[in-house]
Amino acid sequence: RIVVAGSANMDLVGIAERLPLPGETVLGDDFVMMPGGKGANQAIAAARAGGDAVFLGAIGSDSFGVTLNARLNAAGVDTAHVRTVYGASGVAVIMVDRGAENSILVAPGANRTFSDLTAAEEQVIAGGDVLLCQLEIPIDTVVAACKAARAGGTRTILNAAPARELPADLLANVDLLVVNEVEARTIAGQTITGSETPDMAALLALVPRVVLTLGGAGSRYAERDGRDETVPAFVVEATDTTAAGDAFTAALAVAWGEGRDLMEAVRWANAAGAACVRKLGASSALPTRAEIDELYQG
Ligand code: ADP
Repeated sequence: RIVVAGSANMDLVGIAERLPLPGETVLGDDFVMMPGGKGANQAIAAARAGGDAVFLGAIGSDSFGVTLNARLNAAGVDTAHVRTVYGASGVAVIMVDRGAENSILVAPGANRTFSDLTAAEEQVIAGGDVLLCQLEIPIDTVVAACKAARAGGTRTILNAAPARELPADLLANVDLLVVNEVEARTIAGQTITGSETPDMAALLALVPRVVLTLGGAGSRYAERDGRDETVPAFVVEATDTTAAGDAFTAALAVAWGEGRDLMEAVRWANAAGAACVRKLGASSALPTRAEIDELYQG
């Protein structure tokens, strides 16, 4: 069982010829609304990848909250322990232009109130095979969730996105860190701009296992005093890279939760990421287990 503790947003996406400048109004072409937030996305991705996924998070009492709950349920995610809090749900207001350039404003809403884990939430975490967290909820909650996992013998995966430096009491409770290159450099204390190779040795001094995602170049798995291998990406025609990281991370959690070796889990997660980028859209592009297996088996 995969426990995802994290954010849930409603993504409100407006599409126009070009992005408006400050103070300007642009008449757009299209509008779509879909569930988002790394927590909800990864929970949905885990369920689609065949995992028994449960989501822990906070959703508002507004109509977006009703829709978010319904979409999580429809994807097969267990929402029995989701908090409904008075007020607004998390919302991301996203503007996209024809060249796929975007501007995003996130109003965290209910996500900000997700703190002080209840005994019931701690029990759900302790009963899981893997806990999967990201960094779109209060950091103290991420620390508490990882500690509850450790106490209950649940393995922890931290997808350290969006990029930020991590406190020592979080790092001490992470079994597997999943990061892209920007996140890796931030945590390793390197300059985040530029193309400096992430300092894996520095990361492995902080956590025992690291998976570095490399976009179209695949991913790299390294463990402390152990293996360090780059796994090439599956070759697909990239249509839309939105949510590839979420598909990858969730599949990795599902495979690891099933007891598969991490090297094999990373390869399977590469298939999930690739299956995601060849389809247009966010949650609708998240691959099913059959789609991942098909690409994986070749
Ligand atoms: P993020 O969006 O978090 O930066 P990446 O862009 O590194 O994540 O993508 C996550 C994973 O998805 C990669 O490790 C890879 O396995 C897969 N992936 C991403 N882009 C492509 C691509 N163009 N072709 C094949 N696989 C891809």
